Amino acid sequence: MSEEKPKHISYTQMNMYRKCPRQWEYRYIKGLKRPPGGAMIVGGASHEGIEEDMREKRKTGRNLRSSQVVDAFLASFDRKVDTEGEIVWDEKEPEPVAKDRGAAALEYYHRQRAFELDPILIEQKFEMTFGEYTVRGVIDLGETDGSLVDFKTGSRKRPASIIHQDQQLILYQMAKPDTTEIRMEVMLRYKTKEDFQVLARKPATQTEIKIVKEDLIDTTNAMKRGRCFRTDPTNWWCSEKWCGYYDRCRKFKGKSKSK
Ligand code: SF4
Repeated sequence: MSEEKPKHISYTQMNMYRKCPRQWEYRYIKGLKRPPGGAMIVGGASHEGIEEDMREKRKTGRNLRSSQVVDAFLASFDRKVDTEGEIVWDEKEPEPVAKDRGAAALEYYHRQRAFELDPILIEQKFEMTFGEYTVRGVIDLGETDGSLVDFKTGSRKRPASIIHQDQQLILYQMAKPDTTEIRMEVMLRYKTKEDFQVLARKPATQTEIKIVKEDLIDTTNAMKRGRCFRTDPTNWWCSEKWCGYYDRCRKFKGKSKSK
């Protein structure tokens, strides 16, 4: 178990700290890993499927066939299931259902949308320093017209306003200053159909960038100082269902006297 603070962090890690500093401490300082959720397996496998397609298009100018993209998804899904060992599947979406729906959603997105994408950068890594930490990230896709795209998966539509609130996308723009448009493209898997969502925005203004920089520096400085308090227990993620550390963190021994 390592108690040393890492020098490099991912945006995901920083985001965990912003949601709950104590959760970040359990995961990244004490090294207590919890099994991933099924949605993460579907998301990772979908990314690998579309990445293979984009690499082919960058090389040859043509997309793969949808069946090839689905094969890449299925291979990645099985690999992740084998290597992770334990995965927390949602009771409404157990493993075989998640696999079928994930494959169907990716295939639908690929047939309807992927041919329009014009990749020049694929899974582009970057590093930026904020306060005392270097933040590492990966831009899913950059297009020849300067657009940057973040691929997502999910089982419900995201509110349109999310594209303007997402600081991760502004961080990507900071790493790629020639950005002309920012998009979030979401592959949606429902019970009875597939769909996708394309949310787009203009590049962030200098004022928006300044605010994001300040927020990230404040966050990394608080992480460095080891401020690892519990989040507000009324937050939805502070629950037995959503937090893998709930037992350790909030389930105190002894019975409550309240009725
Ligand atoms: S139970 Fe709540 S306070 Fe504790 S680590 Fe989880 S989210 Fe944070």
